Amino acid sequence: MIVVFLGPPGSGKGTQAKLLSKQKHWPQLSTGDMLRASIEKKTRLGEEAQAFMDQGKLVPDSVVIRLIEERNKESDCRLGFILDGFPRNISQAQALDQMLSRQMRKVDWVIFFDILDVELVKRFSGRRTCVQCGSMFHLESVPSKLGNQCDQCGGVLSQRPDDQPEVVEKRLAIYHEQTEPLVGFYSQQNKLKNLDARLPALEVFNRLSDLLK
Ligand code: AMP
Repeated sequence: MIVVFLGPPGSGKGTQAKLLSKQKHWPQLSTGDMLRASIEKKTRLGEEAQAFMDQGKLVPDSVVIRLIEERNKESDCRLGFILDGFPRNISQAQALDQMLSRQMRKVDWVIFFDILDVELVKRFSGRRTCVQCGSMFHLESVPSKLGNQCDQCGGVLSQRPDDQPEVVEKRLAIYHEQTEPLVGFYSQQNKLKNLDARLPALEVFNRLSDLLK
């Protein structure tokens, strides 16, 4: 099964994709994670993408489409995968449909993570990520047992540069302008399922599992 997670930044797509990936053994294909890994490895692609990401802008479609095209051919994607953060606009969605139809496949379901901006701004201000293993925490709702250190691997916790308030504002504006139209795009295809993303993570996951039964 091919499932797209659609929703604003900070709505919990990454957390839920990790949980679902563990349950179903479908890999999580996150363009944001792939881009951050390229930046970490200091590849040319990473250098190109970083300037866009630091300003909260979308990186060019050609870059992310190529990343997904290469990744989805790997053998672990055979039975299905979860797209987390891709597509982010109509032209990426069209490119995805074309790519999958060449492989005689299609998007099965699109889960829409429904949440208001005010909730998201609260979440972003406390979000922390482990620089070593990528585990995510929140100062209030999911604190690390070790304070400013990751309680999974001991790595340092830091705030992503694109989680700074002025960048968050920009990312939300771009989301409403470019990504939100995908709600209409996929509901016309009868693929959209709504998920209340304000709830605590485990409750969201229970509902997500029900939606995909
Ligand atoms: P995320 O971790 O999904 O919030 O993505 C972080 C940043 O990576 C975004 O603000 C964009 O700059 C970039 N990015 C991730 N996915 C895409 C995409 N599908 N299209 C364009 N830019 C993306």
